[in-house]
Amino acid sequence: MGLAVHHLDCATMCPVGARWLNESRRMVAHCLLVEAPSAGLVLVETGLGLDDVSDAPRRLGRAFTTIVRPGTDRARTAVEQVRSLGFDPADVRHIIVTHLDLDHAGGLGDFPDATVHVHGDELAASRRPLLRERSRYRANQWAHGPNWATFGSGGEEWYGFPAVRDLVGLPPQILAIPLPGHSRGHSAVAVESDRGWLLHCGDAYFHESTVDSSRAPAGPMLRLFENAVALDRARVRDNHRRLAELHARAGGEIGIFSAHDPAEFERLCA
Ligand SMILES: [Zn+2]
Repeated sequence: MGLAVHHLDCATMCPVGARWLNESRRMVAHCLLVEAPSAGLVLVETGLGLDDVSDAPRRLGRAFTTIVRPGTDRARTAVEQVRSLGFDPADVRHIIVTHLDLDHAGGLGDFPDATVHVHGDELAASRRPLLRERSRYRANQWAHGPNWATFGSGGEEWYGFPAVRDLVGLPPQILAIPLPGHSRGHSAVAVESDRGWLLHCGDAYFHESTVDSSRAPAGPMLRLFENAVALDRARVRDNHRRLAELHARAGGEIGIFSAHDPAEFERLCA
């Protein structure tokens, strides 16, 4: 049976040159709050957290703050949105993140007792980043010492993708689908909701036109940005191809979306 899912936008980012980004001239941080009767509340992605919005330059660094220009509204954070939905943040027992970039891991500290599921390669990268990985991770976002639960490469097939279904403590309706490329252990997350399958692709792509050729193309700035932040561009391109093929084959039955596209967010909230 499908799970009840709430779509949350947990950060507003208006980067320099946003007019060349997309039609909305901003980026969201698309997160999911999943009601899983057997596991409590499950957060997929965390966006930016309370400490990030209250002191962005210190938490996120001056370069990110100056270029990406994150918003400072506390009501945007996942923890405040969980409260506004009438839930107790302490009931968020599990968090699964697509990767640990600073705009995805910011809210971890607002749920200090949750188990945090992440690909083992991503956790390893965050602990011992290569020189070119150093600017993407901020150790202060996990200084509280999360209860990490790592997963590895997929063993089960999900719509042609190798998936991991046996995530510790999570129901079988929540799967991780390793898609490295954007970062070392980047993974998508599939959730069987009460309205059908959802596939949160994280930063595997940045604009809806990448997977759905019927949409207007992205602005030139977004392509530059996507290339600049990709660890392995060849794998990113291959992920684009596989996800576009999935969209063509099963887009009618799977809600496929990425972390930062406002158009996808608004469509899935409708
Ligand atoms: Zn991101």
